[in-house]
Amino acid sequence: MKKRIFLSPPHMCGEELKFIGQAFESNWIAPAGPALVAFEKQIASDNGVDHCLVVSSGTAAIHLALIALGVSRGDEVICSTFTFSGSCNPIIYQSATPVFVDSELDSWNMDPALLEQAIQSRILLGRKPKAIIVVHLFGMPAQMNPIMDIARRYEIPVIEDAAEALGSTYFEKRMGSIGDIGIYSFNGNKIITTSGGGAIISSSKELIEKARFLSNQSRSPVPYYQHEEIGYNYQLSNISASIGLGQMTVLTARILQRRRIFEFYKKNLSNCGFSFQPEMEGCFSNRWLTTMLIAGEKNRNDHIRIALEAENIETRPLWKPMHLQPVFKDAPAYLNGTSESLFEKGLCLPSGSGLEENDLNFIVSQITKVFPS
Ligand SMILES: *Cc1c(COP(=O)(O)O)cnc(C)c1O
Repeated sequence: MKKRIFLSPPHMCGEELKFIGQAFESNWIAPAGPALVAFEKQIASDNGVDHCLVVSSGTAAIHLALIALGVSRGDEVICSTFTFSGSCNPIIYQSATPVFVDSELDSWNMDPALLEQAIQSRILLGRKPKAIIVVHLFGMPAQMNPIMDIARRYEIPVIEDAAEALGSTYFEKRMGSIGDIGIYSFNGNKIITTSGGGAIISSSKELIEKARFLSNQSRSPVPYYQHEEIGYNYQLSNISASIGLGQMTVLTARILQRRRIFEFYKKNLSNCGFSFQPEMEGCFSNRWLTTMLIAGEKNRNDHIRIALEAENIETRPLWKPMHLQPVFKDAPAYLNGTSESLFEKGLCLPSGSGLEENDLNFIVSQITKVFPS
């Protein structure tokens, strides 16, 4: 059997072991320790904000962000429909209701005009949204200028789900640093990984300290264990943070590698009737995953996926929109058909930063075998 080419496997650089070694030598094998402190500092400074909390997952980060913003039972929260369920499951954890908003073709992310329509329509129903979760899908920045304008006009806080967009920028600003709160994921498939983990960043000290309190079982500051609120065990391990410190040394390199992989696919596949996620003016994507659209009749993306699977190459359809998920079928949704059509035509290609030129040539040759130009 040929070696498997994965969609987006972890890519260690070697430095991680050095930091893990330090953790072992000092016996900080706990959800506390110097690597956690250093990792938080680095994420904050790298992304141009003052405050950061690292946690056990990106989903936990979104959950804490919602609680810190006061989202509770009966509230509504707007969320991009074109995303992974980790973006919106925490809305349900809070017994609140997600309200899904569709994408625009320019960025594949939340359509600002549709966002405003959704807000107005909810307000008319007497249900002003408590927060907006805007996702930067596959690393591509959403149009944050119009989105923030609208959010500010209606005085609704914004959570940026930058789980896939660490290092991407929008007019020089890092994704995650533009809204009121930003979150990242360090899951094994993301651009850098701690094997599992997440972060929440903000320029508001109050919001991050509230999230920190909640992430450690909401322990009141007294010598004994006293709890005046329900807490969570969402802390990250000092070992995971050590992996993160090693990974941070190569973040820029990983972004450039992923962008080169994107350019390779684009150069070698564009003339075969395939098209790629556009990068709008002022946007810089980390190109976490290269995603292409296959023109023509339905299911052509599936033909490619199945043919590549036979060669032990992993590809995947784009995220299935949340408003099409059985579990969210009753949630209000403001739709324009964009995410459904992207889901029908799209395919995520192997995008790991460790891919070599011969792997890429092989993948391209297998794709063009299915649909020769
Ligand atoms: C990965 C991801 C998450 C969740 O992160 P986890 O660390 O896996 O919990 C949330 N939103 C998006 C868009 C993601 O891709």
